[in-house]
Amino acid sequence: MRAWSRGERARGRRIAFVPTMGFLHEGHLRLVDHARERADRVVLSIFVNPLQFGPGEDFQAYPRDLARDRALAAARQVDCLFVPDAAALYPTDPLVKLDPGPLGATLEGRARPGHFVGVLTVVTKLFHWVEPDVAVFGRKDFQQGLLVERLAADLDFPVEIDVRPTVRELDGLALSSRNAYLDADARRAALALSRALRAIEQAWRGGEADPRALVRRGMDVLATPGVAPEYLVLVDRSLRPVTRVDARTVALVAAKVGSTRLIDNVVLGDGIAADTAVRP
Ligand code: AMP
Repeated sequence: MRAWSRGERARGRRIAFVPTMGFLHEGHLRLVDHARERADRVVLSIFVNPLQFGPGEDFQAYPRDLARDRALAAARQVDCLFVPDAAALYPTDPLVKLDPGPLGATLEGRARPGHFVGVLTVVTKLFHWVEPDVAVFGRKDFQQGLLVERLAADLDFPVEIDVRPTVRELDGLALSSRNAYLDADARRAALALSRALRAIEQAWRGGEADPRALVRRGMDVLATPGVAPEYLVLVDRSLRPVTRVDARTVALVAAKVGSTRLIDNVVLGDGIAADTAVRP
C-alpha cells in the first residue's frame, strides 16, 4: 500500500483517502466522488476494525460483502481498494493506543467505552499505510469527524481532514451499513431519528431558542413505539451543551431501533435540507 502511494506521489499525484468499514452505500460513494474532486488518485479502504467494537457489540454480525463492494468501488473509479486483514493490521494486540481526550468521553464515547480509542488508533494506522494528502469523512458520524480533525491537528499529521454532509434517503433516513439490520417495520420506526432532528430544526427556525424546550420537542417525536432513545442533545462544535441555540448548534441523537443502534445529527443553521438526498 505504502509503495503504491509513494509511487503515485513521486509522479506528482495528490492522494485522497476514504476509510470505511465496507458494505458500501451511497453515503460512502459520495465521499469517493468528493475525494476524486480533491485529488488525482482515490484510495478506499475497507476494514471492519475489531478495536472499535465493545464486548457485546455487533463486530461478528456487522454486514460484509466484499464482492459487491469491489464492484461498487470499481464503478466509482476508485484507483486503489485497500482491504487489509486483521492479522496484517494487528499482528499483535496494540499496547499503545490513542487517547481521544474529553471530546471522546461524552455521547458515543460514553455509550461505547473504548470506541474512539479504536477509531483513532485504526485511523492513525491507516494514515501511516496510505499517506494521503486529504482524508474524507462523513458528518453522519459527527463526533468521529471532530475527533479525527483534532487527531490530525494535535498530532501534526500532514493530512487535511475533509468532513462532508450526511447522505440520506428521500424520506430523511441517514444511510448506514447498519440499516441492513432493519426490517420494514424497524425501518419505519428508524425515521423517528431524522424526524426528531427536523422537529428541533423547525421549532428553532420558528423562533424557539431554549435548548430544553427544543429537546423536549425532539423527544416527543423520537419516543415512538419500537424506538429506545439513548440521547438527544444540543451542543456547540466542541460538544458542550448550549444554553442558547444558534445556527452553529448541533443536534445529536442516538437511539436503539429494536436491537439496532443508530445515530444521526444536524447542524441547525445548515438544516437537514442541506444534506444530500438520494433514492434508495
Ligand atoms: P463506516 O463504514 O460506517 O465506518 O463509515 C465510513 C465513512 O463513511 C465515515 O467517514 C462515515 O462518517 C461515512 N458515512 C457513513 N454513512 C454516511 C452517510 N449517510 N453520509 C455521509 N457519510 C457517511
